[in-house]
Amino acid sequence: MDRIEAEKKIRELRDTLWENSRRYYVENAPVMSDFDYDHMMHELEDLEKQFPEFDSPDSPTHKVGSDLDDSPKKEFAQYPHRYPMLSLGNTYNIGEIEEFAQRAENSLGNAFTYSCELKFDGTAICLTYVKGKLFRALTRGDGIVGDDVTENVRRIKNIPQQLSGSGYPDEFEIRGEILMPYEAFDRLNKEREDNEDQPFANPRNAASGSLKLLDPKEVAHRGLWCTLYHIPADNVLFETHSQALDAAASWGLPVSDKRRICHNIKEIEDYINYWDTERKGLPYATDGIVIKINELAYQRELGYTAKSPRWAVAFKFKAEQACTPVLSIDYQVGRTGAVTPVANLSPVLLAGTVVKRATLNNAEWMRQLDVRVGDWVYVEKGGEIIPKITSVEENRREPGSEAPVFPTVCPDCGTPLRKDEGEARWFCPNTDGCPTQVKSKIVHFLSRKAMNVLAGDATIAQMYDLNMVRTPADLYDLSMTRLLSLDGWKEKSARRFLDSLHKSVEVPFERVLYALGIRYVGEQTAKEIARHFGDIDSIASASEEALAEVGDVGEVIAASVYAYFRDERHLVEINRLKAAGLKFSIEEKAVSASEALKGLIIVISGNFSISRDDMKALIENNGGKNSSSVSGKTSFLLAGEKPGPEKIKKCGELGVRIVSEEEFYREFLGGSPQKGKEPADNQIEEPTLF
Ligand code: NAD
Repeated sequence: MDRIEAEKKIRELRDTLWENSRRYYVENAPVMSDFDYDHMMHELEDLEKQFPEFDSPDSPTHKVGSDLDDSPKKEFAQYPHRYPMLSLGNTYNIGEIEEFAQRAENSLGNAFTYSCELKFDGTAICLTYVKGKLFRALTRGDGIVGDDVTENVRRIKNIPQQLSGSGYPDEFEIRGEILMPYEAFDRLNKEREDNEDQPFANPRNAASGSLKLLDPKEVAHRGLWCTLYHIPADNVLFETHSQALDAAASWGLPVSDKRRICHNIKEIEDYINYWDTERKGLPYATDGIVIKINELAYQRELGYTAKSPRWAVAFKFKAEQACTPVLSIDYQVGRTGAVTPVANLSPVLLAGTVVKRATLNNAEWMRQLDVRVGDWVYVEKGGEIIPKITSVEENRREPGSEAPVFPTVCPDCGTPLRKDEGEARWFCPNTDGCPTQVKSKIVHFLSRKAMNVLAGDATIAQMYDLNMVRTPADLYDLSMTRLLSLDGWKEKSARRFLDSLHKSVEVPFERVLYALGIRYVGEQTAKEIARHFGDIDSIASASEEALAEVGDVGEVIAASVYAYFRDERHLVEINRLKAAGLKFSIEEKAVSASEALKGLIIVISGNFSISRDDMKALIENNGGKNSSSVSGKTSFLLAGEKPGPEKIKKCGELGVRIVSEEEFYREFLGGSPQKGKEPADNQIEEPTLF
């Protein structure tokens, strides 16, 4: 490559890297895979070494990507870091780890060790403690200045407000990562999908997006976790990095117990190989291993480059990818009218499952990715869960292929689509007339976690086509004769449906509220609102401010609930449902059935004879408190079938009692569960962290 070409290429690479850095750190919506980003960064580094005349301190190779809020409003105060917050040199190549170790041995001899740690895939945080109290929390920002997210960080459960133990300095900083465990990530994305909000691409984006929320209450709802891995200091407090972290753990700070001291490259490689497999069973995302020189005197000797410490390096695991052609693109209308493009793929095996479809999120995302029907695309599981297209193999593109055209009218009802300011997605505004929206609302109303009425999507579609239902209230007017007009329905199926419908009037108010399908009101939020106000009329007449006072409800949810009850059609619908006998106020006994479990903090794990949700409700209704992780405060672990091994281990370590389901009923509730039995499903083991 000659100088002119090199200069052009360097400029192009810098532009692309800055642009993608912004999408990743500020918008939390990357469109490129980390592997491609890192590959480009290494290409730029090589070119700058080869042509030093074009190197510049402003190049992304010398600066950390910035997460600073650069909006004109500047929602967060910004403060300088006492010590710069840098990145880490990284590689996907084990040979380069060997070179790192060799360089360290050449300059330091043999009298040192390595601290090997998991590389947690979240967003970096710097906490300052003053006299044992959490004083400030800053994001990495541009490495020099960070955004003040203290109020949000105070809502993260495993970050202590007050340190315990003794020997901590009067004032010190400790750094680490804010993570969103997979379970919280799945729950959040499920809620977002239910509400037709853009799901987060992976737990890292979800964690960093959540940390920058303007409403700390909403942060509390997101289930973020923290793990800490570095105490920066000039003064000699400890001899080694691992001693510093052990001390931090003794002060009650969350520090990973998966660290290991290694003495040579063989031990490092064993650690890498072990976690390359084992990490798949961890409840949170990791994207590599960090190898640090453990002795702090040597760390000081090696020092830093402008971007990263010379005493540490990250080995990154490559995300599993598959390459497959796009067969077609569908535009799906959802319950609240959002139109989502979805790529149908030629089926391909990826990380143990066959992937046939991948979301293209929205029109802008689709345009940036420049994906076309017939293209070969790379698919990854975002956060190793949701399949997504990360890039297009442009070399394999068929000549003459054309970029897909996003529809301008609803693919279902033909109404012109609308896009609100600040919204990434196009919506069909015909909420009460668009057949897909109407049917999806009824399907949601009848779903298991809502009214729990036995009816599949096909039944609802048939009822809709025969003009039998247009709103959930119409269901309660259906007669046996009308049901028998459905294709293939006999008296038995009609009777079963009617019985199920009649039984649904027993469904508690919290679930009826959820069934109404108010935007942003997921299952948990519905429960909180229902318990706070007690009945539908109080909710309907509440101001936005009053709604925002409810536990987890932030401004956006409050505005949505408020607007829902200002629509006359919704009030008519609620009156019809009231007349059908549905519950629109909380039942006293649901608040507390007994006080048998008062003062007890209980962690449940495994499968029970009733669903996990019902088990949790049973505990709450009898005055107990549910907790998701075992700690010194846990009264006992209620273990069903196949309890989580991590939780059992933790109980052993902390001396927490393990109680079986049968013992629980016998010893604490004087017999059997007080709630009806229901087949257990959705049994997701809750994570035990760190
Ligand atoms: P990084 O994530 O590669 O590594 C450094 C970070 O690792 C630290 O800042 C820290 O937050 C974290 N970390 C986790 N566990 C740690 C531990 N045990 N000890 C120390 N640090 C630990 O670096 P970065 O500067 O945050 O981000 C750069 C990376 O982000 C790139 O390499 C790329 O993979 C990704 N990125 C991707 C895009 C994209 O478009 N896909 C854009 C920008 C950046």
